[in-house]
Amino acid sequence: MAANANFEPTFDISKPTIARVYDALLGGKDNFAADREGADAYLKYVPNAGDCAKENRQALVKGVKYMAGKGIDQFLDIGAGLPTMENTHQAAQSINPDAKVVYVDNDPIVLAHGRSLLATDKSTTIVTADLRNPQDILDHPDVKDMLDFTRPIGLMVVGLHMHFHDDEGADEWVRLIMDACPSGSYLLITDFVDTGEPLQKAMEQAGLESLGNGWIRTPERIEEHFLGLPLEPPGLDFLARWFPGEPDREIPAVEDLEPWQRILMAGVARKP
Ligand code: SAM
Repeated sequence: MAANANFEPTFDISKPTIARVYDALLGGKDNFAADREGADAYLKYVPNAGDCAKENRQALVKGVKYMAGKGIDQFLDIGAGLPTMENTHQAAQSINPDAKVVYVDNDPIVLAHGRSLLATDKSTTIVTADLRNPQDILDHPDVKDMLDFTRPIGLMVVGLHMHFHDDEGADEWVRLIMDACPSGSYLLITDFVDTGEPLQKAMEQAGLESLGNGWIRTPERIEEHFLGLPLEPPGLDFLARWFPGEPDREIPAVEDLEPWQRILMAGVARKP
């Protein structure tokens, strides 16, 4: 791992955190009793919440491979989460072995677990920072060392917007970072959607009960997260229907999706 080696994280295991609850939903081991209780609250409202998390993870991999296939060789993954089956650097480096990745998460447990995964990897690093302070991310020495902001970057904000209330202004934090990325950069996002279905509302209820956040939004509102940048085909869609760069693929009809498959949407936009 490139840097941050002197940072000694401490965590409060008595309260659930987003990263650890998500890890529990994915079937990971990097979580504690309070997190498993948080995950149980999700499963109570949405029995397939674990499948939602896995499908979200698959969308992340699809998006990374799409961007790497378009020539993106440096990625800034904000709200990276705990390491799991296939991570951004592995997906990116499967397309381009020289791809560089900076993971950013505000939960120090992500750094603690990432250290061992990335001990021998010189192209990937993890930074503990908060999207709420986007300038701190841009100014972070590890970010500056690893990424060249004169060349296109794949900015990833996957499974994160739902954890901010609209009043908080997450779009403006992302805009500040996207403004620092040159033409040809991409923005990959997934978010909880509200198309009026009860299970979507149940997901929101589960999040509010478990973590105190996890809001759902209309597709129109999610499109605003892309800051006016044009979405790449197929645009914003449910994860099970979202296959960027695969126009010939057979796509299931919305009504054929299971209700749990209509909780999250993904999109990727390119900065002209
Ligand atoms: N992006 C991964 C994925 O989609 O598989 C993980 C998503 S997980 C639901 C959200 C992650 O965002 C967690 O690891 C959490 O710690 C992190 N996070 C939450 N608030 C954050 C913030 N303000 N700044 C940076 N990361 C944050």
